[in-house]
Amino acid sequence: MCKDEKTIKDLIIGRRVGFYKVRGEIGCGTFSRVKLAFHALTKDKVALKVLDKTRLDSQAQRLLSKEISSMECLQHPNVVCLYEVMEKPSRLYLVLEYAGGGDLHNRLSTQGKLSENACKITFAQILSAIKYMHNINVIHRDLKAENVLFTSSGCIKVADFGFSTQVSNRNDALDTFCGSPPYAAPELFRDECYLGASVDVWAMGVLLFFMVTGTMPFRAETMGKLRRCVIECEYTLPPWVPGPCQRLIRGILKEAPADRYAVDQMLGICQSA
Ligand code: ATP
Repeated sequence: MCKDEKTIKDLIIGRRVGFYKVRGEIGCGTFSRVKLAFHALTKDKVALKVLDKTRLDSQAQRLLSKEISSMECLQHPNVVCLYEVMEKPSRLYLVLEYAGGGDLHNRLSTQGKLSENACKITFAQILSAIKYMHNINVIHRDLKAENVLFTSSGCIKVADFGFSTQVSNRNDALDTFCGSPPYAAPELFRDECYLGASVDVWAMGVLLFFMVTGTMPFRAETMGKLRRCVIECEYTLPPWVPGPCQRLIRGILKEAPADRYAVDQMLGICQSA
């Protein structure tokens, strides 16, 4: 449970924020609480991300402003839409498209691996979102199963642009370690400058492995061991994994960024499978 959840809950649930009536809790992040809310007139459900401005240090403020500016550029059926941003003296509210079907991590943890068909449909939708983002020079940098949400009708929505960045061109090098270590590419662990699109592509390989096997490709008891496994690209793909998934995973999880499949190659394999 979030440390000051009770306070925030007492203050917000049942209240109205702009046109939105807050009805319940969805979850919480490091600096945010996410509430379920309804538009008072249309009755549409939204996810209201509430941030206590007094708790945001300068780093968090910088990330938040990047999150907002990335999301403001994005309009795609497989990306959570930012409808509006509201500000009060001590709080900031991001009004987000609601994805009420849970997240992929939870689904894989409770149900185990996805069927081949479900993998194909899910992976193709995430790829479509990534292709769109990269085409407009937005790099997500925190792709992981927790950030892949489902709507109640099963459509994929990529969420959480808290580590995203906008580059002026796709070949711009980045240098900040972002994201979750089990999804991080070798160049991130080597502390090298990296191409944003390549680290998103690597994370797609980790995600596909997770979806198709129900386990993570790189696991270790310590960060040092995880780092070594990733840098040496040491993973074992079970032989029963279907051929197209094998091809995709082996084509994506390559140590050298330049050797990894491009998003269009992945889409081609998905479509022909
Ligand atoms: P952190 O901020 O530390 O990265 P986080 O990503 O979990 O953590 P949030 O993005 O604030 O933090 O999300 C908190 C919770 O709300 C998560 O469980 C997430 O799945 C859920 N959530 C976020 N956005 C939506 C949305 N648009 N629809 C439904 N649930 C959402």
